[in-house]
Amino acid sequence: VGFPLAPGATIGILGGGQLGRMLALAAARLGFDVAILTPEPDDPALRVAAHRIVSPYEDHEALVKLAELSDVITYEFENVPVLAAEMLIAHGAAVAPKAEALAVAQDRLVEKSFLNAAGAATVGFHPVHDVADLKQALADLGGRVLLKTRRGGYDGKGQTWVEGIDDAEAAFARLDGRSSIAEAPADFVRELAVIAARGRDGAIACYPLTQSWHQDGILRRTVSPAPDSDGLAPRARAMAEHVLNALGYVGVLGLELFETRDGTLLANEFAPRVHNTGHWTADACAVDQFEQHIRAVAGWPLGPTEPLAPAEMINLIGADVDAWADLAADPAARVWLYGKDEARAGRKMGHVTRLSVG
Ligand code: AMP
Repeated sequence: VGFPLAPGATIGILGGGQLGRMLALAAARLGFDVAILTPEPDDPALRVAAHRIVSPYEDHEALVKLAELSDVITYEFENVPVLAAEMLIAHGAAVAPKAEALAVAQDRLVEKSFLNAAGAATVGFHPVHDVADLKQALADLGGRVLLKTRRGGYDGKGQTWVEGIDDAEAAFARLDGRSSIAEAPADFVRELAVIAARGRDGAIACYPLTQSWHQDGILRRTVSPAPDSDGLAPRARAMAEHVLNALGYVGVLGLELFETRDGTLLANEFAPRVHNTGHWTADACAVDQFEQHIRAVAGWPLGPTEPLAPAEMINLIGADVDAWADLAADPAARVWLYGKDEARAGRKMGHVTRLSVG
């Protein structure tokens, strides 16, 4: 197939969560169909997809089927096995962003090294394979570190603070002795994120900086544009550009940042996909992050990223979603529900966006 893809083409998506669901809705708006491959039969994206493949990510037959249905294949989940993307590419499928973006984002040590090399500063860090490494890290990084498993952590899982040498052995055991990274504490005054896109032609578009608040390691709220961020925005944009260009990236990427006490911006991590800190764009921008991602992978021109209004987004986590009737009655609330049947604690069930008038 050639790019740009014409309407009527099919976009394959690995993963079936709410991000896939919102990507599918955006794709439909542009006249595309989506094919979802996910191991979870009840996933939210399956309910809005033209083609559904329920299978493990590394099932060869399922991947061949996805490749045959799809004109381009992308991801909504960063822990899709890199092997699945490589198998698709070996079968001749067009995959965007590249499998390398997944590989880098899946390993915190590789990711932090990559960010630094690309020109995005991070906190100091140290690889940890054993307790001796951790003690060395504590000595090098100032006596207190955040220990994170290199792989598989999300929403604050797989990390533990290490308060000193005396805690080193127990801390390493708390992470089950897994291969980890020790990070210096980021002395941050707030957390920020930037959603950026790179097209097939290399063009880059960036949404305004977003301020984010987490609770128990889970994103709770965002405000966009981040207050008093005019001076920071060009630096955040430059960091995102470095990352996108270094990866030869095609699609939308979310870059999480810390603003430190002395006004420095540090990169924490990036997600090679649309991101929860960009959900507000669906209500406040002419082209939102989901459409932007579809445009990028389909080889369409990127759309405008200027917000039409400032926006606040609040995640509906677990039982929060029980308030749906009240939210529906609030004319200022734009309600998004993901169609998950069980409101387990800590599970993202939906979100609400409110636009500030004036
Ligand atoms: P992460 O899993 O890397 O996104 O980290 C989850 C949360 O932990 C971040 O949103 C921060 O609130 C906090 N955090 C992560 N890394 C650091 C760090 N080096 N120093 C202080 N807080 C951190």
